[in-house]
Amino acid sequence: MKSSLLIANWKMYKTVEESASFARLLTERLRGWWNPEEVGLVVAPTAVAIFKLAQSLADGGVQLAAQNMDLGTEGAFTGALSAYLLHEAGARLVILGHSERRRYFAETDALVAEKVEAAWHAGLTPVVCIGETESERDRGETQTVLDRQLAAILKKPLGSSHPLIIAYEPVWAIGTGRVAQNQDVGQLAHLIRRWLDQVQAPAAVPILYGGSVNPENLAGFLSLDDVDGALIGGASLSLDHVVSMVKVAMGARQTDTSIAKG
Ligand code: PEP
Repeated sequence: MKSSLLIANWKMYKTVEESASFARLLTERLRGWWNPEEVGLVVAPTAVAIFKLAQSLADGGVQLAAQNMDLGTEGAFTGALSAYLLHEAGARLVILGHSERRRYFAETDALVAEKVEAAWHAGLTPVVCIGETESERDRGETQTVLDRQLAAILKKPLGSSHPLIIAYEPVWAIGTGRVAQNQDVGQLAHLIRRWLDQVQAPAAVPILYGGSVNPENLAGFLSLDDVDGALIGGASLSLDHVVSMVKVAMGARQTDTSIAKG
């Protein structure tokens, strides 16, 4: 029986006040029926909102992720935010290698790998995004791209001090309303699982799907054997959608339990 994980990526949306008010309302709407042990929920606000949200979400079970981080611990790096600062502010996870970072900020596989190490060092769980662009998919290169992106970060056996989450996000499905076929996602998630097995990663490494996930299509992805949750952009900006998606994930888990029992 799997537990699920939903990560809301707010990108460069919502002011600090809007984020805090969303967090307050979210906590109220989840109270009494949501079980964070069954469906984990993580919010990735803008970096400036992390500290305030950490206070309003304390003890509620919703965790916080940063959307990016810089290398280094401290030093003369104007504008940079280290993993340590993000951890101190209240983040417990960090999204790394998002396609928007790779595309607009020229982040390479090598840099993502360095950031993963730095995140581990500071006690943050990296959520590493991988996925092919539309032209790579059209050229039949999806598997090659995933292999390359995974090889960069999975170079050695992973121990318990290397918590990791992989998000498979086909770039052409991000923010476009086009979703990948369940069957394709299932196959690629299986490929990712095989990679994780090779580095003896603990079975607890969740594999998420991301790309235009919403309350209507979430259940289909959660039903796939190797998919443990979703990384959600646009739909996570709406409180109603987030609450609906937590309900869908709780429901999917209950269906799972009855299948296991039956
Ligand atoms: C994302 O930003 O990681 C994402 C998957 O966005 P969206 O859900 O809007 O496609």
